[in-house]
Amino acid sequence: FCLLTRFDTLLLQVALRVRPLSEEEIIQKATPIAHRVDDQMVVLLDPLEDRDDILRVNRSREKQFVFDLTFDGSASQQETYAKTCSFLIPSVINGYNATVFAYGATGTGKTHTMLGTDDDPGIMVRALNDLFLEMERTQDKLIYKVTMSYLEIYNEMIRDLLQPGSGYLELREDSKGVQVSGLSSVSASSTREVMDILFQGNKQRTQEPTAANKTSSRSHAVLQITVRQRSRVSNTVQEVKIGRLFLIDLAGSERAANTLNRGKRMVEGAHINRSLLALGNCINALSDKTGTRYINYRDSKLTRLLKDALGGNCKTVMIAHISPASFHFEESRNTLVYADRAKNI
Ligand code: ADP
Ligand code: MG
Repeated sequence: FCLLTRFDTLLLQVALRVRPLSEEEIIQKATPIAHRVDDQMVVLLDPLEDRDDILRVNRSREKQFVFDLTFDGSASQQETYAKTCSFLIPSVINGYNATVFAYGATGTGKTHTMLGTDDDPGIMVRALNDLFLEMERTQDKLIYKVTMSYLEIYNEMIRDLLQPGSGYLELREDSKGVQVSGLSSVSASSTREVMDILFQGNKQRTQEPTAANKTSSRSHAVLQITVRQRSRVSNTVQEVKIGRLFLIDLAGSERAANTLNRGKRMVEGAHINRSLLALGNCINALSDKTGTRYINYRDSKLTRLLKDALGGNCKTVMIAHISPASFHFEESRNTLVYADRAKNI
């Protein structure tokens, strides 16, 4: 357990991104049931409620959810990045920690938001690109070093995605904070290089077929960007500022019970739920500004790893993802409720 002082505040922003209907969903004649009303509100229709009961239509079939930000299928990658992540870049350069999570069931667009595609990259690439631009802009006054590490947490075990085959890594806590011992870190200086490294790393993620979907990401992928900055002026006391940005593509949040799997994958499901649950509990406890709060980071590897980033005065953004399709009503509702709970302060 970790006892926070009342000066620790988690600045949490919760966003929702509703992806467009997929081709497959259109072929299967899905109706869209999630609608973005405005910048902050989304409504979800319950497809199972009695459609003929007109009087009850607006009261019971429709549930409204309010977040800090909402995006629908028309939102570009650039817009999503600009509104959820770009404002964190100056803090990280100034030595603060920040975290962006992508949350949601498999197939809802988490990897699209975080990694994206070659033609239309996501938050990870755009954040690094912005860091490079900022470094260039101030290079006559400041010296920077930007390094990145990319790991996955699968079944409560940590693997280095940039050094496949290097085995499982352990979490250590020392005076410098939480570290993954033996984790490799690389420095890159161009966006092209970054993309190659990230796409290569992402191929190493543990992805296994489940009944719910052809491939489902059963692991949390964590990109850790470290920025070290110091002044070029040689006769001042050399202050080195170290800021960290964690960009996290979480494992699919669908319930183990929904994936019709037995044996091995039920255990995976249980682990995934454990860390997602632990994360939700930590965020919830951190954002509770009343009374004494005990934050239990030790419940999962993910929360242990993020202890320094979540505690303290750091900024956190959660981007929840849903499909708009009627088939996914249950899943979408679960995600909206989880995100809503994280947001409740
Ligand atoms: P997840 O990582 O949550 O399992 P993906 O990011 O792999 O989901 O998305 C599933 C599919 O939907 C992919 O083919 C992806 O390209 C597509 N997709 C997701 N979000 C969007 C979006 N906002 N716009 C267009 N296509 C999207
Ligand atoms: Mg994914």
